[in-house]
Amino acid sequence: MIVTRPQPCPIVIVTRFAPSPTGLLHLGHAFAALFARDAGERFLLRLEDIDAARCRPEYDAAILEDLQWLGLDFVRPVLRQSTRMAAYSAALGTLEKRGLLYPCFCTRQDIADEIARSAEAPHGPDGPIYPGTCRSLSGEERGRRMASGEAYALRLDVVKAARAVGDLFFEEKGVGPRGETGRIAVQPLLFGDVVLARKEMPAAYHLAVVVDDAFQDVTLVTRGNDLFAASHIQRVLQALLGLPAPAYAHHRLILDEQGRKFSKRDRAATLRALRESGVTPEQIRARIAGRI
Ligand code: GLU
Repeated sequence: MIVTRPQPCPIVIVTRFAPSPTGLLHLGHAFAALFARDAGERFLLRLEDIDAARCRPEYDAAILEDLQWLGLDFVRPVLRQSTRMAAYSAALGTLEKRGLLYPCFCTRQDIADEIARSAEAPHGPDGPIYPGTCRSLSGEERGRRMASGEAYALRLDVVKAARAVGDLFFEEKGVGPRGETGRIAVQPLLFGDVVLARKEMPAAYHLAVVVDDAFQDVTLVTRGNDLFAASHIQRVLQALLGLPAPAYAHHRLILDEQGRKFSKRDRAATLRALRESGVTPEQIRARIAGRI
Protein backbone atom coordinates (compact mmCIF):
# COMPACT_ATOMS: atom_id res chain seq x y z
CA MET A 1 0.00 0.00 0.00
CA ILE A 2 1.34 3.42 -0.89
CA VAL A 3 0.92 5.87 1.93
CA THR A 4 0.87 9.43 0.74
CA ARG A 5 1.90 12.05 3.19
CA PRO A 6 -0.47 14.97 3.53
CA GLN A 7 0.99 17.86 1.58
CA PRO A 8 1.68 21.00 3.60
CA CYS A 9 -0.98 23.51 2.70
CA PRO A 10 0.60 26.45 0.89
CA ILE A 11 -0.44 29.71 2.50
CA VAL A 12 -1.85 32.00 -0.12
CA ILE A 13 -1.68 35.71 0.63
CA VAL A 14 -5.24 36.99 0.39
CA THR A 15 -5.76 40.76 0.21
CA ARG A 16 -8.80 42.91 -0.33
CA PHE A 17 -9.77 46.38 -1.42
CA ALA A 18 -12.73 47.56 0.63
CA PRO A 19 -14.15 50.90 -0.53
CA SER A 20 -17.53 52.32 0.48
CA PRO A 21 -19.81 53.17 -2.46
CA THR A 22 -20.42 56.69 -1.22
CA GLY A 23 -18.73 58.42 -4.16
CA LEU A 24 -16.54 57.88 -7.19
CA LEU A 25 -13.09 56.33 -6.78
CA HIS A 26 -10.24 58.83 -6.87
CA LEU A 27 -6.47 58.58 -7.21
CA GLY A 28 -6.09 57.68 -3.54
CA HIS A 29 -8.36 54.69 -4.05
CA ALA A 30 -6.49 53.67 -7.18
CA PHE A 31 -3.27 53.64 -5.17
CA ALA A 32 -4.86 51.58 -2.36
CA ALA A 33 -6.37 49.10 -4.79
CA LEU A 34 -3.11 48.62 -6.71
CA PHE A 35 -1.22 48.25 -3.44
CA ALA A 36 -3.64 45.52 -2.28
CA ARG A 37 -3.51 43.73 -5.62
CA ASP A 38 0.29 43.77 -5.75
CA ALA A 39 0.65 42.61 -2.13
CA GLY A 40 -1.57 39.56 -2.57
CA GLU A 41 -1.78 36.37 -4.56
CA ARG A 42 -5.54 36.35 -4.33
CA PHE A 43 -7.14 39.79 -4.50
CA LEU A 44 -10.72 40.36 -3.38
CA LEU A 45 -13.16 43.23 -3.56
CA ARG A 46 -15.51 44.06 -0.72
CA LEU A 47 -18.01 46.89 -0.88
CA GLU A 48 -18.57 48.39 2.55
CA ASP A 49 -22.14 49.49 1.95
CA ILE A 50 -23.72 49.26 5.39
CA ASP A 51 -24.47 52.95 5.70
CA ALA A 52 -27.66 52.98 3.63
CA ALA A 53 -28.04 56.75 3.99
CA ARG A 54 -24.73 57.42 2.21
CA CYS A 55 -24.22 54.47 -0.16
CA ARG A 56 -25.63 54.55 -3.71
CA PRO A 57 -26.07 51.75 -6.26
CA GLU A 58 -24.63 53.97 -9.00
CA TYR A 59 -21.36 54.29 -7.05
CA ASP A 60 -21.32 50.52 -6.52
CA ALA A 61 -21.54 50.01 -10.29
CA ALA A 62 -18.98 52.75 -10.93
CA ILE A 63 -16.43 51.10 -8.61
CA LEU A 64 -16.58 47.84 -10.55
CA GLU A 65 -16.33 49.66 -13.86
CA ASP A 66 -13.44 51.90 -12.79
CA LEU A 67 -11.44 48.98 -11.36
CA GLN A 68 -11.91 47.05 -14.58
CA TRP A 69 -10.84 50.07 -16.59
CA LEU A 70 -7.75 50.34 -14.44
CA GLY A 71 -6.98 46.70 -15.26
CA LEU A 72 -7.50 45.40 -11.75
CA ASP A 73 -8.88 41.89 -11.74
CA PHE A 74 -10.40 40.67 -8.53
CA VAL A 75 -11.63 37.22 -7.59
CA ARG A 76 -15.42 37.11 -7.71
CA PRO A 77 -17.94 37.13 -6.16
CA VAL A 78 -17.77 40.67 -4.78
CA LEU A 79 -18.82 40.74 -1.14
CA ARG A 80 -21.31 43.45 -0.17
CA GLN A 81 -21.60 44.13 3.53
CA SER A 82 -25.31 44.90 3.15
CA THR A 83 -25.80 41.14 2.60
CA ARG A 84 -23.99 40.20 5.80
CA MET A 85 -26.27 41.50 8.53
CA ALA A 86 -27.00 38.02 9.93
CA ALA A 87 -23.27 37.40 10.43
CA TYR A 88 -22.83 40.74 12.21
CA SER A 89 -25.75 40.15 14.51
CA ALA A 90 -24.39 36.67 15.34
CA ALA A 91 -21.08 38.30 16.29
CA LEU A 92 -22.91 40.86 18.43
CA GLY A 93 -24.79 37.99 20.06
CA THR A 94 -21.47 36.30 20.95
CA LEU A 95 -20.17 39.48 22.58
CA GLU A 96 -23.46 40.10 24.34
CA LYS A 97 -23.48 36.59 25.82
CA ARG A 98 -20.03 37.24 27.23
CA GLY A 99 -21.39 40.37 28.96
CA LEU A 100 -19.11 42.66 26.94
CA LEU A 101 -21.75 44.99 25.46
CA TYR A 102 -23.99 47.58 27.05
CA PRO A 103 -26.74 49.80 25.66
CA CYS A 104 -25.86 53.49 25.46
CA PHE A 105 -28.72 55.97 25.33
CA CYS A 106 -26.57 59.11 25.04
CA THR A 107 -27.15 61.52 22.19
CA ARG A 108 -24.16 63.29 20.63
CA GLN A 109 -25.17 66.35 22.66
CA ASP A 110 -25.26 64.35 25.93
CA ILE A 111 -21.75 63.15 25.23
CA ALA A 112 -20.48 66.63 24.35
CA ASP A 113 -22.05 68.07 27.55
CA GLU A 114 -20.56 65.35 29.72
CA ILE A 115 -17.12 65.89 28.18
CA ALA A 116 -17.40 69.67 28.70
CA ARG A 117 -18.22 69.07 32.40
CA SER A 118 -15.26 66.79 33.06
CA ALA A 119 -11.87 68.23 33.95
CA GLU A 120 -9.97 65.96 31.60
CA ALA A 121 -11.38 64.48 28.43
CA PRO A 122 -9.06 61.83 27.06
CA HIS A 123 -8.84 61.77 23.27
CA GLY A 124 -8.63 58.75 21.01
CA PRO A 125 -7.90 58.51 17.29
CA ASP A 126 -11.51 59.54 16.48
CA GLY A 127 -11.78 62.40 18.97
CA PRO A 128 -12.83 62.54 22.62
CA ILE A 129 -13.32 59.16 24.25
CA TYR A 130 -16.84 58.28 25.38
CA PRO A 131 -17.01 59.18 29.08
CA GLY A 132 -18.81 55.98 30.01
CA THR A 133 -22.08 57.56 31.18
CA CYS A 134 -24.24 54.52 30.37
CA ARG A 135 -21.72 51.88 31.44
CA SER A 136 -22.90 51.90 35.03
CA LEU A 137 -26.68 52.05 34.51
CA SER A 138 -28.54 49.42 36.48
CA GLY A 139 -30.07 46.45 34.68
CA GLU A 140 -33.43 47.74 35.77
CA GLU A 141 -32.90 51.18 34.20
CA ARG A 142 -31.54 49.65 31.00
CA GLY A 143 -34.56 47.39 30.72
CA ARG A 144 -37.00 50.22 31.38
CA ARG A 145 -35.45 52.58 28.83
CA MET A 146 -35.17 49.89 26.16
CA ALA A 147 -38.77 48.86 26.73
CA SER A 148 -39.91 52.48 26.39
CA GLY A 149 -38.47 52.55 22.87
CA GLU A 150 -35.62 54.95 23.59
CA ALA A 151 -32.95 54.73 20.86
CA TYR A 152 -29.66 53.20 21.93
CA ALA A 153 -26.33 52.09 20.56
CA LEU A 154 -24.42 49.00 21.68
CA ARG A 155 -20.97 49.78 23.06
CA LEU A 156 -18.11 47.44 23.84
CA ASP A 157 -16.94 47.61 27.46
CA VAL A 158 -13.27 47.79 26.54
CA VAL A 159 -11.93 47.40 30.07
CA LYS A 160 -13.77 44.10 30.41
CA ALA A 161 -12.75 43.17 26.86
CA ALA A 162 -9.08 43.91 27.60
CA ARG A 163 -9.25 41.68 30.68
CA ALA A 164 -10.85 38.92 28.62
CA VAL A 165 -8.21 38.91 25.86
CA GLY A 166 -4.99 39.58 27.83
CA ASP A 167 -1.87 40.73 25.96
CA LEU A 168 -2.29 40.84 22.20
CA PHE A 169 -0.11 41.77 19.25
CA PHE A 170 -0.56 42.38 15.57
CA GLU A 171 1.96 41.99 12.79
CA GLU A 172 2.63 45.17 10.82
CA LYS A 173 4.36 44.36 7.55
CA GLY A 174 4.13 47.92 6.27
CA VAL A 175 4.71 51.13 8.22
CA GLY A 176 2.28 53.00 10.45
CA PRO A 177 2.05 56.80 10.57
CA ARG A 178 4.76 57.02 13.25
CA GLY A 179 7.04 54.46 11.68
CA GLU A 180 5.45 51.54 13.55
CA THR A 181 6.44 48.22 12.08
CA GLY A 182 6.85 44.56 13.07
CA ARG A 183 5.18 43.12 16.17
CA ILE A 184 2.90 45.79 17.61
CA ALA A 185 1.54 45.52 21.16
CA VAL A 186 -2.21 46.12 21.10
CA GLN A 187 -3.63 49.01 23.10
CA PRO A 188 -7.19 47.81 23.69
CA LEU A 189 -8.34 51.02 25.39
CA LEU A 190 -7.22 53.34 22.59
CA PHE A 191 -10.72 54.20 21.29
CA GLY A 192 -12.58 53.77 24.59
CA ASP A 193 -15.94 51.99 24.56
CA VAL A 194 -16.50 51.88 20.79
CA VAL A 195 -19.99 51.70 19.31
CA LEU A 196 -20.50 48.35 17.59
CA ALA A 197 -24.12 48.81 16.50
CA ARG A 198 -26.76 51.49 16.20
CA LYS A 199 -30.40 51.40 15.33
CA GLU A 200 -29.86 52.87 11.87
CA MET A 201 -26.59 51.00 11.36
CA PRO A 202 -26.78 47.50 12.84
CA ALA A 203 -23.04 46.88 12.50
CA ALA A 204 -20.37 49.52 12.93
CA TYR A 205 -17.22 49.59 10.80
CA HIS A 206 -14.86 47.80 13.24
CA LEU A 207 -17.24 44.89 13.76
CA ALA A 208 -18.13 44.40 10.09
CA VAL A 209 -14.47 44.56 9.00
CA VAL A 210 -13.25 41.86 11.37
CA VAL A 211 -16.19 39.56 10.68
CA ASP A 212 -15.71 39.89 6.92
CA ASP A 213 -11.92 39.71 6.85
CA ALA A 214 -12.29 36.32 8.57
CA PHE A 215 -15.18 35.25 6.33
CA GLN A 216 -13.17 36.09 3.21
CA ASP A 217 -10.01 34.40 4.61
CA VAL A 218 -8.06 37.63 4.24
CA THR A 219 -4.51 37.00 5.45
CA LEU A 220 -3.08 40.49 4.81
CA VAL A 221 -5.11 43.64 5.44
CA THR A 222 -3.71 46.50 3.37
CA ARG A 223 -5.00 50.05 3.77
CA GLY A 224 -3.93 53.64 4.29
CA ASN A 225 -2.12 54.44 7.51
CA ASP A 226 -4.99 56.75 8.50
CA LEU A 227 -6.58 53.44 9.62
CA PHE A 228 -3.51 52.15 11.44
CA ALA A 229 -4.99 52.86 14.90
CA ALA A 230 -8.13 50.89 14.01
CA SER A 231 -6.02 47.72 13.97
CA HIS A 232 -5.74 47.87 17.78
CA ILE A 233 -9.46 47.56 18.42
CA GLN A 234 -9.96 45.27 15.44
CA ARG A 235 -7.37 42.84 16.87
CA VAL A 236 -9.29 42.89 20.17
CA LEU A 237 -12.54 42.04 18.38
CA GLN A 238 -10.85 39.20 16.48
CA ALA A 239 -9.64 37.72 19.77
CA LEU A 240 -13.04 38.11 21.45
CA LEU A 241 -14.81 36.45 18.52
CA GLY A 242 -12.22 33.67 18.12
CA LEU A 243 -11.33 34.82 14.59
CA PRO A 244 -7.90 34.37 13.00
CA ALA A 245 -5.61 37.41 13.05
CA PRO A 246 -4.53 38.64 9.63
CA ALA A 247 -1.25 40.52 9.19
CA TYR A 248 -1.40 44.22 8.26
CA ALA A 249 0.40 46.35 5.72
CA HIS A 250 -0.49 50.00 6.13
CA HIS A 251 0.72 52.36 3.48
CA ARG A 252 1.22 56.08 3.31
CA LEU A 253 -1.52 58.15 1.77
CA ILE A 254 -0.91 59.79 -1.53
CA LEU A 255 -1.75 63.47 -1.44
CA ASP A 256 -2.99 66.03 -3.92
CA GLU A 257 -0.93 68.99 -5.17
CA GLN A 258 -1.87 70.97 -2.04
CA GLY A 259 -0.66 68.14 0.19
CA ARG A 260 -4.19 67.13 1.22
CA LYS A 261 -5.83 63.72 1.23
CA PHE A 262 -7.87 63.12 -1.92
CA SER A 263 -11.54 63.45 -1.16
CA LYS A 264 -14.67 62.14 -2.82
CA ARG A 265 -15.73 65.74 -3.35
CA ASP A 266 -12.65 66.39 -5.47
CA ARG A 267 -14.25 65.58 -8.81
CA ALA A 268 -11.15 66.36 -10.89
CA ALA A 269 -9.20 63.58 -9.14
CA THR A 270 -11.83 60.90 -9.70
CA LEU A 271 -10.90 58.08 -12.04
CA ARG A 272 -14.08 58.85 -13.95
CA ALA A 273 -13.13 62.46 -14.62
CA LEU A 274 -9.56 61.52 -15.53
CA ARG A 275 -10.77 58.85 -17.93
CA GLU A 276 -13.25 61.26 -19.52
CA SER A 277 -10.48 63.76 -20.06
CA GLY A 278 -8.49 61.16 -22.01
CA VAL A 279 -6.08 59.95 -19.31
CA THR A 280 -5.14 56.27 -19.74
CA PRO A 281 -4.82 53.59 -17.03
CA GLU A 282 -1.07 53.48 -17.75
CA GLN A 283 -0.81 57.20 -17.05
CA ILE A 284 -2.70 56.76 -13.77
CA ARG A 285 -0.30 54.03 -12.72
CA ALA A 286 2.67 56.19 -13.61
CA ARG A 287 1.17 59.15 -11.74
CA ILE A 288 0.64 57.01 -8.65
CA ALA A 289 4.11 55.49 -8.84
CA GLY A 290 5.62 58.96 -9.00
CA ARG A 291 4.04 59.87 -5.69
CA ILE A 292 5.25 56.99 -3.58
N1 GLU B 1 -14.10 50.93 3.94
C1 GLU B 1 -12.97 51.58 4.52
C2 GLU B 1 -12.68 52.85 3.75
O1 GLU B 1 -13.22 53.05 2.68
C3 GLU B 1 -11.72 50.71 4.50
C4 GLU B 1 -11.85 49.56 5.42
C5 GLU B 1 -10.57 48.84 5.69
O2 GLU B 1 -9.70 48.73 4.82
O3 GLU B 1 -10.44 48.32 6.79
O4 GLU B 1 -11.92 53.66 4.23
